[in-house]
Amino acid sequence: MKTNEKIKRAEKSILHTYDRYQVVLERGEGVYLYDTDNRKYLDFAAGIAVNALGYHHPVYTKALQEQAAKLTHISNLYYNTPMIEAGEKVLAASGMAKVFFTNSGAEAIEGALKAAKKYAFQRDGHAGHSIIAMEHSFHGRTVGALSVTGNAHYREPFEPLMGGVRFAAFNDLGSVEDLVDDTVCAVILETIQGEGGIYPAAPEFLTGLRQLCDDRDILLIFDEIQCGMGRTGDYFAWQGYGVRPDIMTCAKALGGGVPVGAFVLGEKAAAASLGPGDHGTTYGGNPLACAAVSTVFDIFQKEKIIEHVQGLTPYLEKSLDSLIQDHPCIKARRGKGFMQGLVIEGQPVSEIITRAMENGLLVISAGTDVLRLVPPLTIEKTHIDEMIGILKASI
Ligand SMILES: *Cc1c(COP(=O)(O)O)cnc(C)c1O
Repeated sequence: MKTNEKIKRAEKSILHTYDRYQVVLERGEGVYLYDTDNRKYLDFAAGIAVNALGYHHPVYTKALQEQAAKLTHISNLYYNTPMIEAGEKVLAASGMAKVFFTNSGAEAIEGALKAAKKYAFQRDGHAGHSIIAMEHSFHGRTVGALSVTGNAHYREPFEPLMGGVRFAAFNDLGSVEDLVDDTVCAVILETIQGEGGIYPAAPEFLTGLRQLCDDRDILLIFDEIQCGMGRTGDYFAWQGYGVRPDIMTCAKALGGGVPVGAFVLGEKAAAASLGPGDHGTTYGGNPLACAAVSTVFDIFQKEKIIEHVQGLTPYLEKSLDSLIQDHPCIKARRGKGFMQGLVIEGQPVSEIITRAMENGLLVISAGTDVLRLVPPLTIEKTHIDEMIGILKASI
């Protein structure tokens, strides 16, 4: 009753751009969420790979409370200590040179694209450069980010978007080579494609791209918004491949649930791209969001979150693989670490998701036919067993 009334109220005021699940979530504890009727859900969605530390983590909550009581916003006209600390921690984890904090993933993509364009503008003394992006990619909903998103259905109503974007086939180096010419300033891709259906990059694809970009002085941009921040068992997924980007984008788990993103530049892009007056944001790098980022890194270190993901991944993979054996509608498993997808055939993924929710488990979809599992990084073996049990009952 309570739930239905709230949903009715929401639909009266909130623009309907999402077909939401019929639940109103109220609070979280550990890796569980509770709705307004006090029903409990095991969370394998983590707010779309955001809530890496689960809910109500005592250290994280305390840090936010303390920062909220001090300062939440001052603008980028002044310095603030949480931004300094968060910036140093992003660079320490990535080994990159400079960071710019944003408010979202899409905004991090916008900044990365501008940095690449400015780099080529300075090098060549003129504008008009193009960008190679990937089919089935997802980089966000703002106009620039949408321009490099490989889903034509998302783009079409809003065209013309940013010009000069060419789409290559993911994991097909030849298709990128075919599109390269002197106008190309950047290649952008997700190290592991998320929304498109959980497709990890092939190692030889990334090494080939690195070589190609080095040979032609093209900037390589890795979108780590979903796959970064420990999800694959490294701070950033590219570290697991040993292939370094010139620019990386972060968001989602970066703030552990507070809206924040970043684009991070390597030495080359940092030395010769965006300068004073080229880019800005009112909120980006605000002390509240940066206190969240800083605390997330501290907790990752103290609780050995990366090692935990590495240690538990074989068990998660083994458990999911055993599910495949018993259920012919699951055709394959793809993914890395705690970013896993099950390819479903013969029944809509949405039906499984709805049944799982009724049975107390939150999971999401990716692409058209993939059940996506992106739990908090703090899950334990027992949660994996519980998830498998509920999925069995829901498929
Ligand atoms: C979610 C996501 C984005 C967009 O982030 P927003 O914060 O929703 O703007 C961009 N790229 C990838 C890979 C994502 O998963």
